[in-house]
Amino acid sequence: MDDMKPATIAAQGLGWVDEKTRAVAPPLHLSSTFLRDEDNQYRSGRNYARADNPAFDQPEVLLAALEKGADALLFASGMAAATAVFQALAPGDHVVAPKVMYWSLRNWIAGFADTWGIAVDFADMGDLNAVHSAMQPGRTKLVWAETPGNPMWNITDIAALAQIARAAGAKLAVDSTVATPVITQPLELGADIVMHSATKYLNGHSDIVAGALVTRADDEFWAKIRNNRIQLGGILGSFESWLLLRGMRTLFPRVKTACASAQKIATAMTKHPHVRAVLYPGLPDFPGHEIAARQMKGGFGGMLSLLVAGGERAAITTAAEIRIWKRATSLGGVESLVEHRASVEGPDTPCPPDLLRLSVGIEDTDDLIADLSQALDEAH
Ligand SMILES: *Cc1c(COP(=O)(O)O)cnc(C)c1O
Repeated sequence: MDDMKPATIAAQGLGWVDEKTRAVAPPLHLSSTFLRDEDNQYRSGRNYARADNPAFDQPEVLLAALEKGADALLFASGMAAATAVFQALAPGDHVVAPKVMYWSLRNWIAGFADTWGIAVDFADMGDLNAVHSAMQPGRTKLVWAETPGNPMWNITDIAALAQIARAAGAKLAVDSTVATPVITQPLELGADIVMHSATKYLNGHSDIVAGALVTRADDEFWAKIRNNRIQLGGILGSFESWLLLRGMRTLFPRVKTACASAQKIATAMTKHPHVRAVLYPGLPDFPGHEIAARQMKGGFGGMLSLLVAGGERAAITTAAEIRIWKRATSLGGVESLVEHRASVEGPDTPCPPDLLRLSVGIEDTDDLIADLSQALDEAH
């Protein structure tokens, strides 16, 4: 097992077979409760599905293996996974989080911090000096990062951030939804916790909402997070867990295809007369490209954004003229999506009004480029 490549482990779902039937796909366990032994013990190790569900075992062990972590936990959504980390903090603790990050989580942090008595500083994670001066050694318990970061795809240097966090006695948690374990291993770079919206690339088929955390060490902080899942009950359903495992088995070919296609689309769009700028970590002149080249292996992800010439109206009209790409939120599915992001994030957003966010799927690259080009032309 140890010498197998991650792509092999993923494709075979760890190579597990059902002992009873020799089935290569796991059975679907729907039971909410488990039988107690006659002497009042629970030798199966399970008693109730909110605490522990056999449907979690295979996807959790597989994800922990892909992220090279000690343990993984599935949650009802990416937000349930992320908020479980913050809810493991105590009143009085201090957190440093990115200025530009997944919008719903940023909003929640700002509100939660107030009611929970947690102090938060939002810092520019690309400016290590700014992060350093935001730290309050002894009081800062968590540094949150997201790389590439929604929706501008800012790159954060995970290894450098891990050093700053460790020196101050804080944990570093990284939202690695967009990078995926195929191209980045945050734990190897020094992070303590990796978070995924498993709704996105891990599942990959836009048919479940799910989240996950992976830890480097099974320590006290992790025990709090695990207890939070049991007690707050943000668990994933059995069927969703089963679908997630099925999705993860094709993670590598999906992500590799999306990365290769995104790189070509980004390059083609830099030459389009109606595109003001292309935001993609794989472009050599993108700020952060050098860090991305160091910490992302085999590709720069399937997400990019276009700043459309002509402003907000032209951007929205371009999205309206699209035929193959689907106009929808979310990302990381096999079908390509386009979204006018500022409309979603509301008036306080740092997102430019002329930005279109593109999630590249696994369709033919030439079809995707031709469709984008005709939509841009139609809108101008
Ligand atoms: C979607 C997303 C989330 C939230 O996950 P849900 O599964 O929608 O709750 C968090 N971070 C990033 C980067 C995302 O794309």
